[in-house]
Amino acid sequence: MRAIDYVAVQDAPAALERLSARPRDAVPIAGGTNLLDLMKLHVHNPALLVDINGLPLDRVEELEGGALRIGALVRNSDLANHPRVRERYPVLSEALLAGASPQLRNMATLGGNILQRTRCAYFRDVSQACNKREPGTGCAALEGYNRMHAVLGTSPQCIAANPSDMNVALVALDASLQLQGPEGERDVPFAAFHLEPGAHPERETLLKPGELITHVTLPVSGFAARSRYLKVRDRASYAFALASAAVALELEAGTIKDARVALGGVGTRPWRSTEAESALIGQKADEVRFKAAAAAALKGARTRPHNAFKVELARRTLVRALSLTAGLL
Ligand SMILES: Cc1cc2nc3c(=O)[nH]c(=O)nc-3n(C[C@H](O)[C@H](O)[C@H](O)COP(=O)(O)OP(=O)(O)OC[C@H]3O[C@@H](n4cnc5c(N)ncnc54)[C@H](O)[C@@H]3O)c2cc1C
Ligand code: SF4
Repeated sequence: MRAIDYVAVQDAPAALERLSARPRDAVPIAGGTNLLDLMKLHVHNPALLVDINGLPLDRVEELEGGALRIGALVRNSDLANHPRVRERYPVLSEALLAGASPQLRNMATLGGNILQRTRCAYFRDVSQACNKREPGTGCAALEGYNRMHAVLGTSPQCIAANPSDMNVALVALDASLQLQGPEGERDVPFAAFHLEPGAHPERETLLKPGELITHVTLPVSGFAARSRYLKVRDRASYAFALASAAVALELEAGTIKDARVALGGVGTRPWRSTEAESALIGQKADEVRFKAAAAAALKGARTRPHNAFKVELARRTLVRALSLTAGLL
């Protein structure tokens, strides 16, 4: 048996102090729905759990000017059902409700969802080669069963997909992250936070050791109120995305004034497609244009034997999401 220390803290300075005292083996725990799973599988073996649930980060606040600031400990269910989120950012509410199960959403937090690890089966099985879990050991998924894996942003070192539905909505909404660490506070655009694997799949985000996510801010925008999340999966619930699309459109007399497009299930990070957005802006909101945008979004796809179907699936998911958002269906 392996001993694990546990401490509950009530404010950010105390959390940071505990984390920085043992930088190699201490981790924050929020809802625990991902971390405890990985500990049971021996994928993650921290020696100290710093329970951050007592931190005052469980509120959704409206800032002057109308932006929303969401605390990192707001539960996924509460965020999905928050009246301001449902009304102004429906894509976020829909993405959250498409994830996991009601019980998991009641525990899962904003910060933990952003940082949840890949569901790659080889990553979760410590007997398998995995560059993300153990750099330099290889990637069992490349020649293995890779049906759930990414087709965008992959590298010869890793093809794991980012599993979060919520992350896809946040990258479409121009969200920003507020981080707090031993060296102070900083803001990071959500779109820059998750990293592609490249030669270092073990580096997944810009978060530094000992740093906490404290908030996510959603700016006011002309497009967010007309937005949708569409997820395609093997079962109607309790399954990760094969392909998903988060889209937002600002329309003026049938013409697209502004657009946001992001894809899930197909990218190594939450995948914003500025190529698709460029193909839409200034054009008529019709199926021809939506198909052109979907082709642009998947242009750089690199497939493996079992996941080639995802390219067409993602194209169709995106066209349907755009058609629903524009009111054509
Ligand atoms: C059976 C099952 C099905 C699921 N299906 C889906 C699905 O369909 N779609 C989907 O999107 N998700 C799904 N999930 C994943 C679920 O959404 C995540 O497990 C959850 O969001 C993680 O949040 P948490 O608060 O429990 O994180 P935790 O497990 O507490 O933490 C996760 C990681 O984040 C770190 N962390 C947590 N909070 C902070 C913070 N504020 N600052 C810094 N680090 C922090 C922890 O140290 C840990 O490394 C599923 C999970 C399960 C178990
Ligand atoms: S795809 Fe990435 S996470 Fe999966 S086995 Fe390969 S290196 Fe590991």
